[in-house]
Amino acid sequence: MTQRIAVVTGAARGIGAEVAARLAADGNAVAVVDLDEAASKEVADRINGSGGWAIGIGADVSDEEQVTAAVTRVAEELGAPTILVNNAGIIRDNLLFKMTVADWDAVMGVHLRGAFLMSREVQKYQTKEGWGRIVNLSSTSALGNRGQANYAAAKAGMQGFTKTLALELGRFGVTANAVAPGFIATEMTAATAERIGVSFEDFKEASAAEIPVRRVGVPADIANAVSFFAGEGAGFVSGQVLYVAGGPKA
Ligand code: NAP
Repeated sequence: MTQRIAVVTGAARGIGAEVAARLAADGNAVAVVDLDEAASKEVADRINGSGGWAIGIGADVSDEEQVTAAVTRVAEELGAPTILVNNAGIIRDNLLFKMTVADWDAVMGVHLRGAFLMSREVQKYQTKEGWGRIVNLSSTSALGNRGQANYAAAKAGMQGFTKTLALELGRFGVTANAVAPGFIATEMTAATAERIGVSFEDFKEASAAEIPVRRVGVPADIANAVSFFAGEGAGFVSGQVLYVAGGPKA
């Protein structure tokens, strides 16, 4: 199998860290990109310790110069990146009437501007190689979620972005797909529990009761789906949104 070079953003913890480990286990070299370089390196060290090949890079995906520098480093240290997982994300939840412009801009900046900047940079290598995979993290919140006008708009935006990349990049052997998780137990959902004043355990239990498979998701549920889209076998699947939510969503 050809060893591919994968870049996973927001990979210092949560879903991103699990995706990075999974892509490494699948045989890819992996660049773990996150705001905090030390935290990214810890994840890379764990991957290297279990027989994989990874490097940790600190970069803010919403910053054009940092994105260019990070992707250039990946190309120099690992090789031409051809797999990109746009996973970095933040929440700044509030009801519309209390949502600040800063809350709105921060969420758009990381999810949409970040995915745009990273994809624009990585596609240079993908189109040259004639092979590529882009996997974007959307969310069930794209369908609408109280208190998340900014996040829902960004995650719906990720779907339109994904479909457009599929249309533009298909002729170069590059596919683009989105994974839209439901409730996944990570620091992000723990922060939501804290904001609404319930314990994380109670929050997970109440959420699980509403999910057809009667459990909340774990990062490995998402890593499995990303692994499929990032693999050789998914070359005829492009522009799709896969809800990974323990039940049907549309
Ligand atoms: P998480 O635990 O909060 O991890 C997100 C990571 O992204 C953090 O390491 C964070 O770094 C990093 N990050 C934030 N802003 C960044 C930036 N500007 N540049 C680079 N990295 C940045 O979140 P998660 O639950 O794993 O979520 C991962 C993705 O899945 C997100 O896109 C999220 O919206 C999506 N998702 C999650 C769920 C869920 O239930 N958890 C559901 C649907 C979709 P810091 O730690 O330094 O802030």
